[in-house]
Amino acid sequence: MNTPDTVRQKLLLHTCCGPCLTHPFQILKRRYEVVSFFYNPNIQPQTEFRKRLAETRKLSAEWDVPLVECTEDSDLWIQSTKGLEQEPEGGARCLVCYRMRLERTAREALSRGMDCFSTTLTLSPHKRADVIFPIGEEIGNRLGVVFLAEDFKKRDGFKASLAWSRDLGLYRQNYCGCLFSLREARMRLERKASQKPHPPSAGYPGKGSGSGIRGDV
Ligand code: SF4
Repeated sequence: MNTPDTVRQKLLLHTCCGPCLTHPFQILKRRYEVVSFFYNPNIQPQTEFRKRLAETRKLSAEWDVPLVECTEDSDLWIQSTKGLEQEPEGGARCLVCYRMRLERTAREALSRGMDCFSTTLTLSPHKRADVIFPIGEEIGNRLGVVFLAEDFKKRDGFKASLAWSRDLGLYRQNYCGCLFSLREARMRLERKASQKPHPPSAGYPGKGSGSGIRGDV
């Protein structure tokens, strides 16, 4: 039974996908009452969006993680990133994308009377915590809800998420989320493939293969 000293704070955890929820949830559940918040208007195409949501639901059911789903705003995301289509991953488009998702999470936490919010985004080796933290902190200070700045990739966090995902049979995507990142991932793969000789009968994973592009988000 919780005594006043052991009552845990309520944390709304922005969740980009099932695999990225694994390790952060394991870390945070020791200290917080965690609710997962799936809000990712950046994910395209819709088939991919549905897959990532389905995997998040699967994990949430398996581990009994309360899940709030917000499936709005894909048009707003497209409008907000207009003119930034050619930005590389990690550039200006991503700043808009991070901000949009974190701000919505903070507002949801407030409306639910929760104590703090955070995000699973920092689990990815491709996402810099030192870029994400100031955005979360600025939003938290402005709206009056604490942003928990946690770099989940640290201490082999990303590796741990791979192991969890494998054990639970979770689908892991191979690009960040938007169509621009999908295009970038394919180009990277094509460049890599063109740099090494192919065995006569072997192709390389390309459009729609779902394997070998990056496997780390
Ligand atoms: S690359 Fe990822 S973080 Fe950047 S805009 Fe696309 S979906 Fe958002």
